[in-house]
Amino acid sequence: MSGRVFEFRDLTADTAVTADVCVVGSGCGGATVAHRLAARGVDVVVLEQGGYYPTGSFDQDELNMNAKLSAERSLKTSADGGTSLLYGHNVGGASVHYWADSFRTPADRLALWAQRYGITGHDVATLTPAWDELTQTLSVHEAPDEYFNRMNQLVRQAATTLRWRGDRVPAARRNCQKSGHCMQGCLYEAKRSQLVTHLRTAVENGARIYADVRAQHLDFAAGRVQSLRAQIIDRARAAPSAATLTVRARAFVVAAGGYNSAAFLLRNGLARQLPALGKGFGFNPSPMVHALYDEDIVLWRNIPAAWGIDEFRLARYDSHGRYTEGGYLLMPNQIQPAMLAATLPLFGDAHGEWMHQLARIGSTIGWIDDHPDELGEIRVDSKGAARVHYPFGPITTAMLRDLVRKQLQLQFAAGAKRAVVSGSQALSFRPGESLGAVDGLAVTAAGLHMGAPHPSGGCAMGPSPATAVVDSSHRVHGFQNLFVADSSVFPTAVSVDPSFTIMAFSYVAAQQVAAELGGGSARETHPDGARRATA
Ligand SMILES: Cc1cc2nc3c(=O)[nH]c(=O)nc-3n(C[C@H](O)[C@H](O)[C@H](O)COP(=O)(O)OP(=O)(O)OC[C@H]3O[C@@H](n4cnc5c(N)ncnc54)[C@H](O)[C@@H]3O)c2cc1C
Repeated sequence: MSGRVFEFRDLTADTAVTADVCVVGSGCGGATVAHRLAARGVDVVVLEQGGYYPTGSFDQDELNMNAKLSAERSLKTSADGGTSLLYGHNVGGASVHYWADSFRTPADRLALWAQRYGITGHDVATLTPAWDELTQTLSVHEAPDEYFNRMNQLVRQAATTLRWRGDRVPAARRNCQKSGHCMQGCLYEAKRSQLVTHLRTAVENGARIYADVRAQHLDFAAGRVQSLRAQIIDRARAAPSAATLTVRARAFVVAAGGYNSAAFLLRNGLARQLPALGKGFGFNPSPMVHALYDEDIVLWRNIPAAWGIDEFRLARYDSHGRYTEGGYLLMPNQIQPAMLAATLPLFGDAHGEWMHQLARIGSTIGWIDDHPDELGEIRVDSKGAARVHYPFGPITTAMLRDLVRKQLQLQFAAGAKRAVVSGSQALSFRPGESLGAVDGLAVTAAGLHMGAPHPSGGCAMGPSPATAVVDSSHRVHGFQNLFVADSSVFPTAVSVDPSFTIMAFSYVAAQQVAAELGGGSARETHPDGARRATA
C-alpha cells in the first residue's frame, strides 16, 4: 500500500498516529533508514520540520530556493558569529541542495574509528555492499569532460602544473542538464537527492511523511521511548500552529542532522546519563578564495565539482609531530551571483568593479578535516536553541591558513589576475606577490568567512556511555528502542564529503532497528490504525 506526504494544511487539529518506526528528519540519514525499513514492510512515519517542495515547485531563483531549502536562509552562524552553518530544512534535508559528491569513506578513516573509538560493524567489507547498491540507486558516477565548466577545467590544469594529485569526483546524477542549479534544487531531477530517490521509494512502500512537523518531546518509560510529541508548523505564517502530532511507535530513529540531533536529545534531558552528548563536534570549516580572470568562467553553470584535489586530504606532520600542511579537500567552487556578491569581501566601487566582471570571477573552496583534538560542542541555551561552539585551535588555524595559501597558489597557476580571500580582512593578491600575509590571517569571527556544510559528531558512536552517545548498533546507550542515524554519530569528521558515509551507516542502522522490531509489524497487526492519520 502506498503512503503519502502530509503537510501542515492536512494537520489542523491534534493528531495521533501509530507506526512501527518513527524517524525524525528526512535527510540522507532519515530517508535512507525509511527507505530500507519500508522496503522490508516495516510501517514507517517520518517527521520533518521543514516544508515539502516537490521538484515541480523549483523555480531556479537563487534567493527563493535559498529560503525554501537552506535552514534559516543560510544566515545561521556559529555562536561566535563567524561561520555560516549550512544545512537542510525541508523534505529531503540538505541533499536537495547539496552538490551530490559521493565519496566512499576512506579506509584509513574507518580504521581510525575502529581502533581509536572502538566502533565495530562499520568496516569497508560491511559497508561496501551498501555503497555498491547506492551507486546504482543514486546513479553515482564520474562526469565526463563535457560536464567540466571552465572553473573545473582550470583547477584540473593548474593542479597538473603544480603536481597536486586530483581526480574526477563521483557524484549522484543522471541525465544532467548542466543548469548549475544543484544548490537551488534540481528542477530536472538529475541530481539524485533523497527527495527523488529514497523518500519516493519509501512512500511507494507505505511510509508516511509528515512535513512541517517539529519533533519535540520524547516520553520515556522503563528505558524505552513510548511516544513522541511534535509541533505542527504553519508554513504560511512560518510559526508554530496550535496543533500537535503524537506518534506512538516501537522504535524511534533520530536523524535530525549534525546540527540538530544532539540538540534534540539535549532538550530531552539526556545529558544527565550521557555526558558526551553534544561534544566532539566538527563542521569542516570551508574558506573561499575568489579571483578575477581574463576570460569568462561563468561559475554558476554545469557541475559544481566535477574534478577535485585530494593531494592534501590527510594532514602532514614533521618528525616532531608538528603540523606542516594539508588536512583538507580542495575543490572548484560553485556559487550563484547573489551569494558571490555577499561573499566578495569588497565595498563600494571596488565591489562594483568586480561585480561588473561577474562572468570572469572564478572561485575555489576547501573543507578542512576537523582535527580530533580541537573539536567543538553543541549546547542548548535557556530558550532551547542550539548553539555551536567551535574553538579554532592552533592546528585548525594552521590548516585554514595552509588551505587559503594553496587556493591562492592554485588560482594563480590557473591564470588568475587578482585574488581575494573571503572575509573582512579582505586579503588581496596579484600574481607573483608574496603570500606571506596569509601567515597572519586572523581566524576570527568574520575575519575569515567560512561556510560549514558538513557537521559531524555530537552523538558520537562508541562502546562506553561515559565517552559516547550511541553504541555500534546506533542505539542510544541506555535506551532500548532509541537510535541515531546521521552524521552526528561520527566520532570525527569523515575527511571527505559525508553523504555516502551517512547513507552507508544508515543501512547498518536500519538493519539494527529491524532487529529490534523482531517479527511482526504494526501494519500487519493494525492495518487501518497504522495507516490512518486523523487529518
Ligand atoms: C551547500 C551544500 C553542499 C553539500 N554538498 C555535498 C556533497 O556534494 N557531497 C556530500 O557528501 N555532502 C554534501 N553536503 C553535506 C550533505 O548534504 C549533508 O552532510 C547531508 O545531506 C546531511 O544529511 P543528514 O541526514 O545527516 O542531515 P540533514 O540533511 O540536515 O537532514 C536532517 C533533517 O532533519 C530535519 N530536522 C531537524 N530537527 C528536526 C526536528 N526536531 N523535527 C523534525 N525534523 C527535524 C531538518 O529540517 C533536516 O531536513 C553539502 C551540504 C551543503 C549545505
